[in-house]
Amino acid sequence: MNVIKDHTNYTIPCNECQAGQMHRTFLTYFTWLGDELITVPDFPAWVCDVCGKREFDVHALNQLSLLLSPTAGKPAAKTHRASTRTKAKHTRPSKSE
Ligand SMILES: [Zn+2]
Repeated sequence: MNVIKDHTNYTIPCNECQAGQMHRTFLTYFTWLGDELITVPDFPAWVCDVCGKREFDVHALNQLSLLLSPTAGKPAAKTHRASTRTKAKHTRPSKSE
């Protein structure tokens, strides 16, 4: 069996039926972002020619999750809990007397 590096003609063995080959194809990917349904047309995926198992491309999924993540590319912002902190500051001793 030859390993073909050409992505246009690349197949991977199906891990569902163990008999088929999964071919690269493009499907519409649906995902929820909060309350919004996101549809991504022509999303890279793999489809088995024997059992018909569908699997979305993991690399594309990773890239998509980075794109959809609100904190993508930003340093992790710490959520401010100012309400509890400001209350604590009121307990410092008074030096007015
Ligand atoms: Zn299969």
